[in-house]
Amino acid sequence: MHELTVVSNIFKIILQTAKNNNLSKISKINIKVGRQRHLAPDLMEFAFNSVSKNTIAAGASLAIERVDIRMRCSSCGLDFVVGDNTYLCISCGSPKLETISGKDLLIESIEGEL
Ligand SMILES: [Zn+2]
Repeated sequence: MHELTVVSNIFKIILQTAKNNNLSKISKINIKVGRQRHLAPDLMEFAFNSVSKNTIAAGASLAIERVDIRMRCSSCGLDFVVGDNTYLCISCGSPKLETISGKDLLIESIEGEL
C-alpha cells in the first residue's frame, strides 16, 4: 500500500516536530495533499491509525485537504486546473505543461498538548 509508506514517512516528521515542541500529546494533524500524489484519504487515515498506535498521536485526527493540480502551459501561458488526468493545455492542446501546484504533500500544522 503506497499510502502506508507515505504516512510512515510523514509520521516520523510529525513525531520529531512534536518532540521539538515538547508536546506530550498530538490531537490533530492538518496536511495538504496534492491530487497528483494519487493518495486516497481513507487509506491514509487507515495507515495513520495503524502507525500512530501506542504513540503520543494515538487517537489524533488527520485532516486532509486535497490540493487541485494546477498547471501552466509553456506554449500559451495559460494557468488551469487539470480535471480528469488529461495533461494537455485546455486552450491550445499543448502537452508542454509545468506543474504549479498539486504535486506536494505538506504538513501544515500539528495541534496538541504540552
Ligand atoms: Zn496552451
